[in-house]
Amino acid sequence: MLSIPTKPFASLAIKLFDFIVVGSGAGGATVAKELSAAGKKVLLLERGIQLPPRKSSKAYSILKSDVEVWHTQCLGGTTVVTMGNAVRSKLDGSLSRYYAEAEEGLGVIPVPEDHLGMATKSLLSLSDEWVRMPKAIDFSKCRGCGHCSSGCPTSARWDATAYIREAISNSCKVSTSVDIKKVLIKGNRAVGVEASDGKTFEAGGVILAAGAIETPRILSRSGIISAGKGLFVDTFVTIGGFKRGVSMDRELGMAAFLKREGYLISPHYSSFLPNLIEEKGVSLKPSDILSLMVKIEDEPIGEVTPNGIVKTISRRDSTLLESGKREAMELLIKAGVDSDTVVSVHPRGAHPGGTCSNMVKSPLEASTEIDSLYISDASILPGPFGLPPMLTIIAISKRISGILLGRA
Ligand SMILES: Cc1cc2nc3c(=O)[nH]c(=O)nc-3n(C[C@H](O)[C@H](O)[C@H](O)COP(=O)(O)OP(=O)(O)OC[C@H]3O[C@@H](n4cnc5c(N)ncnc54)[C@H](O)[C@@H]3O)c2cc1C
Repeated sequence: MLSIPTKPFASLAIKLFDFIVVGSGAGGATVAKELSAAGKKVLLLERGIQLPPRKSSKAYSILKSDVEVWHTQCLGGTTVVTMGNAVRSKLDGSLSRYYAEAEEGLGVIPVPEDHLGMATKSLLSLSDEWVRMPKAIDFSKCRGCGHCSSGCPTSARWDATAYIREAISNSCKVSTSVDIKKVLIKGNRAVGVEASDGKTFEAGGVILAAGAIETPRILSRSGIISAGKGLFVDTFVTIGGFKRGVSMDRELGMAAFLKREGYLISPHYSSFLPNLIEEKGVSLKPSDILSLMVKIEDEPIGEVTPNGIVKTISRRDSTLLESGKREAMELLIKAGVDSDTVVSVHPRGAHPGGTCSNMVKSPLEASTEIDSLYISDASILPGPFGLPPMLTIIAISKRISGILLGRA
């Protein structure tokens, strides 16, 4: 893979830019590509470094709380570790044109029959309600190795570095290892950003896209303290047990899903499972596990603090998780898992969102109470979908770009 030609921050000229975009994930890469394609001078600033796809897991940042929250800090943001799931949400009505554009750009198609693993097929045979997962994967390159979330070894799975390359070809400047401390505000107007080493950059507009954990922190450090509440994460658990030789650890994960009221069930292997099952006295290999993810639409009652997060499981969340786990357990047992060996991995969340939804008029309109300051990432999502949010963040960011260009 060719490395992306980023610029040393110090070498960039001052006051040259129409827009500064902070963060290069799903939201930031999209606005940088769209605005630069329209001839705007864009500077994309990323706190992390550029990593080869196989090393993407080095960029994980894990936030401890009752629910453990995972995200990634590197060029391309958290898109570099996705499962490639690319689904529309309940915002479909207002965003359909942008969803269609995003699906075409990302090459989204439902998982084809020949990429369904044997373990997944054994679960799919138990119900006709399963829906094949739409994925942003080039299946002609996908080996179905199951390593999506460690970084795709064949670059078959789309990530935002594709958009960053396009932005660069449109003359967008990209600089990594630049940690933005705050937005510079004069009067009621955003005029630029300041990095943690004190360097400043000015532009006509500032678009924050540092994700749902970091965007509210940047706002707080800029003196806007009402951000950071309303955190949701689509809390999930993976439950699984012993079934000899199913080899789910080496097949494409989340290839299908069952959508229920408030939760989703999907075939999913977790590397936490083998130790947990062995604690029950079962000796096994990772290939001897059949497992399912239960993911809920959690209550948006978490909070981002200056150095951490608070994300608990409410009574309602716990009821939803229990309903989903009961259904998943029944499926696993029907598929031949030994019920005495079934365990559950601790609750996690990989879709942090909502922490700046009170800062914008609507998720479809990214302007804030500060002139020329916009937000275009998961932090403005209006609530949990209990579904993968990346396609929605990209669709929203396309619409926001249209508004900034006077086209939407
Ligand atoms: C393991 C895993 C699997 C997932 N799988 C899927 C999936 O299959 N489908 C799906 O839809 N979603 C998936 N997600 C979720 C999805 O990746 C995120 O919801 C999405 O990437 C969020 O986009 P974003 O633009 O809000 O933030 P991000 O993509 O996280 O980008 C934010 C960027 O801002 C940078 N940044 C942060 N602070 C600063 C700062 N101060 N200065 C400069 N830069 C900064 C970060 O380094 C990062 O690069 C998954 C998440 C995980 C963890």
